[in-house]
Amino acid sequence: MSDRTAADASGAVTAPPAVRVQGLWKRFGEQTAVAGIDLELPAGKFIGLVGPNGAGKTTTLSMVTGLLRPDHGTIEVGGRDVWRDPVDVKARIGVLPEGLRLFERLSGRELLAYTGRLRGLPGAEVDKRATQLLDVLDLAGAQHKLVVDYSTGMRKKIGLAAALLHNPEVLFLDEPFEGVDPVSAQTIRRVLERYTGSGATVAFSSHVMELVESLCDWVAVMANGTIRAQGTLSEVRGSASSLQNAFLELVGAGGRDTGESLDWLGGTR
Ligand code: ATP
Repeated sequence: MSDRTAADASGAVTAPPAVRVQGLWKRFGEQTAVAGIDLELPAGKFIGLVGPNGAGKTTTLSMVTGLLRPDHGTIEVGGRDVWRDPVDVKARIGVLPEGLRLFERLSGRELLAYTGRLRGLPGAEVDKRATQLLDVLDLAGAQHKLVVDYSTGMRKKIGLAAALLHNPEVLFLDEPFEGVDPVSAQTIRRVLERYTGSGATVAFSSHVMELVESLCDWVAVMANGTIRAQGTLSEVRGSASSLQNAFLELVGAGGRDTGESLDWLGGTR
């Protein structure tokens, strides 16, 4: 399957990519998690990174955000090398990692105050931004509750608030909608749409094709540590009727035939 790279149909000069990845590799012992991928994520877009379980999405996002050192390859965010210039790059990005570890014994508001000060923002500005984020994300009522007592969805939302507090150029989110109820998902979605509307870039991983199809301008499909396609939603969808069908075709999984192997399931008890 060829790599369908994003192209500007009008031929106009496009902005430099928000993220450029070249020849990125990561192995864990015998297991190759990421096998020499190239990626160019356009700036100002809502980008979806999709792929089956174990495709290498989390490993890729961890390397791109400076959390996991690659074996080989280069990663640039806004033209700066993530691994040569980590402090500068980290000031420009926000991250909501998988299995987010938070300071559990702080309240939601204290967590934002702490994050804001770590980011070097003045106290009054942190207070103002925290109040607005807590309000927009429906966490104002729980702002004084300890994070340890937050539900899964509340944790995602406070993690998102912490990732947005310093107004990063690029926001990376690993499965931001997993375990989130539809009302909170809609809230997160509105906040992210507003954020990309201002010219910022969001890159997130997901398994939910309908969500990616309705939210993203640009998609990369990953399987077995390789990029199977990348480009605008319509380029990646190609002639398939939906992103879901294109995805199944690209990852070569029309659904595993259970054949005879589960012949006991649903049989007489
Ligand atoms: P999922 O959608 O299930 O979260 P993913 O696309 O995020 O999957 P990764 O978590 O990046 O996939 O994993 C890619 C491969 O690398 C898998 O085979 C996984 O078992 C392996 N892997 C990831 N992290 C480690 C690790 N720390 N040690 C050993 N193997 C790992």
